[in-house]
Amino acid sequence: MNQLAEHLRFYQELGVTGINRDPRWRRREDEIRPASEPAPEKDALEQAEAVPVTLVRSGAEALAAIREDLGDCTRCKLHTQGRKQIVFGVGNPAAEIMFVGEAPGADEDIQGVPFVGRAGQLLTKMIAAMGFARDDVYIANVLKCRPPGNRNPEPDEIALCEPFLFRQLASVEPKVVIALGAFAARTLLKTDDPISRLRGRVFDYRGAKLIPTFHPSFLLRSPGYKREAWDDLKKALAILGRELPGAALSPAAE
Ligand code: URA
Repeated sequence: MNQLAEHLRFYQELGVTGINRDPRWRRREDEIRPASEPAPEKDALEQAEAVPVTLVRSGAEALAAIREDLGDCTRCKLHTQGRKQIVFGVGNPAAEIMFVGEAPGADEDIQGVPFVGRAGQLLTKMIAAMGFARDDVYIANVLKCRPPGNRNPEPDEIALCEPFLFRQLASVEPKVVIALGAFAARTLLKTDDPISRLRGRVFDYRGAKLIPTFHPSFLLRSPGYKREAWDDLKKALAILGRELPGAALSPAAE
């Protein structure tokens, strides 16, 4: 039952607004035609052997569609509070690993790319220490717009913006999601638990494993926690079946 509820919540987050309970919606056209009515003539094309057609949309196309739906977003108040541009996400549309941060800061707001400021440089080093290039992974934030003065995201902003993150996750389908900091971990896991209770654990998350870890901004302020963050990243590598890349990094991607 829990699984069903989770499934339905997921569809809701993806923007599906309802499910028609009328069984005719599930039946084929000739099953719902009244018996008295003759079947229409089939033309040559219809008589031909049915060939199954799969509508395949690449991850890149799916992400482009999400970006298009986001548009020049005015859904929440952040568009009136000085954001320069939307910071959507970057990286490999079929990445095995996806990093989720909180919200763009000043540098990201200028460049339109997540994690390019000081915290971003540390994140890039952490990614490199795992043996990846930035282009190998996918990086996005809970909020796509910069909160003024880098204040914390507010609940109404998260509520309006998170469906786009969920759609990005559903499109990339990573094997591992690294939630950077409390806002990302709480938004994804739908909990109010503090990061201290969430970090150090691995969660099952929509077919992926979710690993909460410290936000790089916190690690810049408190470098003593880099050892724990590295432990978290090593768990991600183990899940992906990847070797530890030599001595590239240890507790610090200094
Ligand atoms: N902090 C974040 O959470 N995201 C960014 O993109 C930059 C800094």
